[in-house]
Parts: sequence; C-alpha cells; structure tokens
Amino acid sequence: MQLSSDGQTWQNWAGNQSATVKEVQRPASLAEVASVVARTAESGERLRVAGSGHSFTPLVTTSGTLMDLSRLPAEVSVDSTTSTARVSGQMRLSEVGPALWERGFALANQGDVDVQTLAGALATGTKGSGPRHGTMSSRVRGMGLITGTGEHHEITGRDQRLLHAAQVSLGLLGVVTHVDLSVVPRYRLREDNAVMSVDELLDVWEGAKDAYHHFSFWWMPTSSSSEIYGLPPVPADHAYVKMLTAEPAGDGAEVAGGSGARSGPAYLIYPDTELGDPFYELEYVVDAGDDKETFLELRELMRHGFPQEATPLQVRWQARDEAYLSPQYRRDAVSLSVSGMPGTDYVPFLRAVDRRLRDRSARPHWGKLHFLDRDRVEELYPALDDFRAVRRSLDPRNVFLNKHLSDLLV
Ligand SMILES: Cc1cc2nc3c(=O)[nH]c(=O)nc-3n(C[C@H](O)[C@H](O)[C@H](O)COP(=O)(O)OP(=O)(O)OC[C@H]3O[C@@H](n4cnc5c(N)ncnc54)[C@H](O)[C@@H]3O)c2cc1C
Repeated sequence: MQLSSDGQTWQNWAGNQSATVKEVQRPASLAEVASVVARTAESGERLRVAGSGHSFTPLVTTSGTLMDLSRLPAEVSVDSTTSTARVSGQMRLSEVGPALWERGFALANQGDVDVQTLAGALATGTKGSGPRHGTMSSRVRGMGLITGTGEHHEITGRDQRLLHAAQVSLGLLGVVTHVDLSVVPRYRLREDNAVMSVDELLDVWEGAKDAYHHFSFWWMPTSSSSEIYGLPPVPADHAYVKMLTAEPAGDGAEVAGGSGARSGPAYLIYPDTELGDPFYELEYVVDAGDDKETFLELRELMRHGFPQEATPLQVRWQARDEAYLSPQYRRDAVSLSVSGMPGTDYVPFLRAVDRRLRDRSARPHWGKLHFLDRDRVEELYPALDDFRAVRRSLDPRNVFLNKHLSDLLV
C-alpha cells in the first residue's frame, strides 16, 4: 500500500487515484479486523480495504477508514484430496506461487504481473490468457469474510448465490480473510516469443490460440511502443506474441534460458512485464467469436484516428464463468487493452475505444479505466440484482461502499 509521509494520503501504483483518509487501520488478527469493522458500522462511517494498489479505478478510495491487512499472518494449506488450497487473502501472488509449489500445486493460470494481493486480484476478476482458462475468480470455491456487521462468514459451494457474488466482489461484501481456490498439480511453462506481421498473426490465429496453455499478443502501433511495457524491440504494425506451453514439473525450481525462450515453474514464467513507468490502462472484454474483427477494428482506429498514441494493444482470451460481476459472465471472451500515457491528453483516445466497443456489449475490467455509468452496468450484467441482494444482506449498513461504487452499482 502506498501512503504519503503524513500517513493519511493513499495513492495507487499508477498515481491516477488518491484519497485522504480519516485513519489507517492495520489489524494484526482476525479479531481486530472484526472489531474495526463492527466499530465502523456502529458509527455509520465507511471503510475500504487496500490491496497492493494496482487498480487504475477508484476502488480503494475513501474519506473514511482504510484497512491495510499486511500485518495479518500469511497462511497457505492444501487439501490434496480435493486439490483445494486455502490462502490468506492479503498474500501477494508472488508469495502464493512459491508456497503452492512447495506443496506440489500451482495456480491454473495467472496474469502478466504478480504484485497484486490474492483478494485484490480476485475482487476485479484478474485473469491471464487461454480460451480454456477462466479468470482467477472462476477458481474460487469458498471464501472467509468479515462482513459489514463485523461477523465472520464462511462462503462455500453449498450456496452458489453467495459464491458467485463473492468471486468478483469489488471489495463490497466484506474483508476477505482467506480464499479456497481450486488448484492444479504444479507444472512448468516453456515460454516462446515471436515477432509477427499482422498477416502472419492472422494466419496462425485460429490454431495457435487453442494450441497453447497461454496465447496472447501485443500489437505495436509504433516502433517505440514495446518500450512502454518493457518488452523487446518490435517494428511498427507488428505483434509481440507470447506462447506458453505446459510441461511436467520435474524436480528443479530454476528458470532456464533467457528472453525469447525460457522455461521454469509456472509462477515464475507468467509475470513477464516490467513494472517500469506508470501508464493508465483500459481493458474491455467482448465475445470471443468477435476476436479478430475487434482487433482489426481497434488497429484501424489507432492507425488512422489516433496515430500519436503509441500504446501497445494487448489481446488475450478467457473462458466463460458464473461470477455475477465477471466481465466473462456466461460469455467466452477476448479482452483487449490499451493505455493512455501520463502527461498526455489520452482521454479522447480511450473514449473513442470505448465508443467503438460499445456495440459489442463490451464489459470492462473493473480494475482498469472505463467509461461505464449505472445504466450501462444494468444493461451489461444480467445478474446485477443477484449481486445487489447479496451485498445488502452481507453489508446492510453500507460500510464498504465508496462514491465510485455507489454511483455505479448500488
Ligand atoms: C502493471 C499492471 C499489470 C496488470 N496486469 C494484469 C493482468 O495481467 N491481468 C489482469 O486481469 N489484470 C491486471 N492488472 C490489474 C490488477 O490485477 C487488478 O487491478 C487487481 O485488482 C489489483 O490487485 P491489488 O492487490 O493491487 O488490489 P487493489 O487495486 O488495491 O484493490 C482492488 C479491489 O480489491 C479490494 N480488496 C483488496 N484486498 C481485499 C480484501 N482482503 N478484502 C476485501 N477487498 C479487498 C479493494 O478494496 C478494491 O476494491 C494489472 C495492473 C497493473 C497496474
């Protein structure tokens, strides 16, 4: 969590969201978490939990209490008969990976960085790529919560309504203390990268996206675009393609090879973009059946409408899931992301992307910039009322609301 020296001003990693808070609470036990929440509820105040601050949207902002869970004990255990791991919500993905590996297990899929907390990543539906893989949230089988009344609540698969609300919750249902995740036997990944022209990419597209454990690419509008995400040089109008193949775990936990072709424990291979200078990212999710068309449409928009925008256009795939607020809710999906650069007038570009994708019923990544209002949210999320009902039952005094979420969802 990033706090100013006076300890009262929170800021996210990208620096585009900040909040001056009334107080910061750092509970060291679940009992303390519960008593802070109960006190907040009684006083009619608000509370938000901070993850590692890697969302670009005002999810964590509050003028009330900010809760930092980093003093809670970090615990991981695996029930190998059901391949279910119980993991403390505040642990970073970079800690979860090695802890599961030591126990013979791994996350089924991950995104491009591992700095997020587990609960923070799940709250926004964080995902990697591969049409066979759902989001990380789709692997949630249960969850421990301190709800808005300060009570401990255990969500399990026995109540699918609660589970589907909790899988992507935007931190609205309570403080996530632990998560039960469906995990897989540990595996290594071999990473192969290639630079392709758009014609080459379109030729391999259909076969490749199904052939690999993970297939994704960044299309570069200019020859300096790849620098923005710390990727190797790529000529303009070419794509940097990432192909990951799953291999048996073996004994070693080392990474072999270097940039272009490396192999190692999956949790060390997924994260591959360097956290260099901040950027402001937007990511929308559309029907997987529209993947090529949508990519080509955005490429045209960037080349002809916004030639000054250098941001890479990233394309990834995910399988459908049942989480009420998931962008992949009941829809096999492709996600497309672009960024605006700090200090530039990037908003017209991001708005144009939003307008272009609107007709495709694009749902946003909740942690990345978007232009949705309440009407669009109502239109795009058929199970929104189910989510709302669960939220009201677990947080009757609206302890976990902030203005952004209240305007958008409640
Ligand atoms: C450089 C970069 C790369 C990224 N790469 C990817 C990617 O590959 N794939 C992808 O899908 N996304 C990606 N993201 C987005 C990122 O995964 C999400 O925004 C994620 O939610 C951030 O997690 P966090 O721990 O920083 O949570 P925060 O941003 O701090 O918080 C997110 C939400 O979680 C809530 N929360 C956090 N902890 C708890 C808790 N214990 N209990 C209750 N609520 C809680 C917060 O209140 C908030 O609502 C990336 C972001 C950046 C900046």
